[in-house]
Parts: sequence; structure tokens; C-alpha cells
Amino acid sequence: MALLSIVLPAYNEEQNIANTAAVLKNCLESAGIEYELVFISDGSRDDTFKEIQKAAAADSRIKGAEFSRNFGKEAGIFAGLELTEGDAVIVMDCDLQHPPQVIPEMWEKWQQGAEIVEGIKKSRGEESLGYKLSAGLFYKIMSKLIKMDMNASSDFKLLDRKVVRVLLELPERNTFFRALTFWAGFQTETVEYEVQERQFGESKWSFWSLMRYAIANATSFSTLPLQMVTVMGVVSILFSVILAVQTLIKYLFGNAVEGFTTVILLILIIGGFIMLSMGVIGHYISRIYEEVKGRPKYIISKITDNVQESVLGAWKK
Ligand code: UDP
Ligand code: MG
Repeated sequence: MALLSIVLPAYNEEQNIANTAAVLKNCLESAGIEYELVFISDGSRDDTFKEIQKAAAADSRIKGAEFSRNFGKEAGIFAGLELTEGDAVIVMDCDLQHPPQVIPEMWEKWQQGAEIVEGIKKSRGEESLGYKLSAGLFYKIMSKLIKMDMNASSDFKLLDRKVVRVLLELPERNTFFRALTFWAGFQTETVEYEVQERQFGESKWSFWSLMRYAIANATSFSTLPLQMVTVMGVVSILFSVILAVQTLIKYLFGNAVEGFTTVILLILIIGGFIMLSMGVIGHYISRIYEEVKGRPKYIISKITDNVQESVLGAWKK
């Protein structure tokens, strides 16, 4: 019988582990799906990993690992994928905001031949103003850049083993799981779901961490910001030609452009353009620097007893 693996990244989620495991058990057993749960504690500062160990000791279908520090949700997802053994893998949040009731539907579509089943948000529940200004805005821009609706798509997906293998082979460190499945292609189906209220605890994202996540993801998926630098250059060259001609004509007719105002404005505008462009280029260089160093995406410091010891310590990628 086919096995379903569920990857659950968890950062300071001690209150959610036992409950989520129980809810999933209930849901999957009644749907007759054979499964395993992989919890990755992302360097939690509370007892999340102890809870995972407790759950794993009570049920051999549950396993997990702890990171040496907080590496972020992306790293958690990839470490989870690495530990899975199932023929299909579902990635979902461990706060039950992704409703487990949709899992049987995803499973069904996979059995009918889908290689990726995307979870699509019907509505985003409660959205704060902070969200609309950061992540919301970011997803709008991203959707334009990569031509898919990022606002409705989520990290809640089912992947066939083939797709997992492809994702795990990717050499890049700065991954963006949500968009990578679109990039990978494969036969894709969708399942709609209603985003639920968080069960316990609170959201781990602050405005700034979302902002950082947004910029990192946008630049890992597109070089459009770099092309914008060229566009800005072309625009300012056109503008300077016009201004130069006008200034020279005025000069030849004996009434040169007056005063410092023009000079100050020009310096400010061009200075602004140059600094912005250097910032954009600098950002890409820093990304190259990070990739070139070749450090691992995450470091696993602890594992539950049913996980192979070879995953301890740094990975080869
Ligand atoms: N998460 C993680 N590492 C982090 C931040 C979050 O593994 O650095 C996990 C978190 O435990 C949860 C999921 O990612 O399972 C989504 O996070 P959260 O619920 O805080 O985000 P929101 O649902 O508010 O977008
Ligand atoms: Mg959540």
C-alpha cells in the first residue's frame, strides 16, 4: 500500500504538536490512508522538540528532528522532505491553519495521476494591515513576475516522490518552495481550502521578517530588478540628452540656465538613481556570495530515535 508522508515545520509550537498529531491521526485513519508524520523543529526555544520526542515514542509513525538554530521555514520544509519515505509527501503548517480535511481529496487526486496537488486558498481568513502592506503586496508583485497567482497559492501541497527528488537535488540554498513547484512543472491539480484560525500560540512572522522573506524570494526568482536598473539608466540618458540640448541652445542664445536650483535637483535625482541601482546590484552580489560559500541550508542537532543518525551534523548541501 502506498505511504503518505506529512512534513510539518514547527517553530515554538509546543502547544500544537500533540494536538496536530492527534487530529491528523484521526483524519487519516478514518480515510484509510497509511501515513508518517515528520516534524521539524526549527531551532525552537520552547519544548517543541520534547513534544515531538514524546509523540514519536508513543507512535512509531511519528518522527522528527531539531535544528541547531532557527533556519527559517524554507529550511524546515527541505529538511522534512529529506527525512520522508512516502510515495507522496504533503507539506503543511503545524498550527492546523491548513485544514487536514482536504488531505483525502489531495490523496485521491494523486492516486488518479496528479504529480503535484496545489492547495489554493479560498480566502485568507483574517488579514492584518501589516500583512496587506508586506506579504500581500509582495505576492501581488511576485504574481506579476512569475505569472501565477501567488496570493492564493500556499505551502500546503502534495508532491509525488519524483517531484520531491527533483527539489532535493536543486543545488541552490535560497529556495522558495511555494513557487518552485510551479517552476518544476509536472502534472498539477488544485484543491481549494479555507484558511483556518490558528489553534494555539501566535504567528511567527513579524512585519520585518515578512519583508525580508519577500525580498529574498523575489530576488531568488527573478532578475527583473536588475533589468529595472538598465531601464532607469536609459530613461535618465534620454532625459539628459533633452536637457543638454535645451541648456546648450539657451547658452548659445546668451541666456544660460539660472542658479543652483537646477544643479542641486540634478545631483539629487541622479544620486538617488545611482544609489538605488547600486543597492539592487549589491543585493544580487550578496546572494551570489551566499550561494558560492556553499554552506548547508540547515544543521540538524537532534533527532528522534527512529531517524537515521547519518542526518546529524551538516549536510553536503
Ligand atoms: N515556522 C518555521 N520557522 C520559522 C517560522 C515559522 O518553521 O522561522 C513554521 C511555523 O511553526 C508554522 C508555519 O511555519 O508551522 C507557518 O508559520 P506561522 O503560522 O507563524 O505563519 P502564518 O500562518 O501566520 O503565515
Ligand atoms: Mg500559521
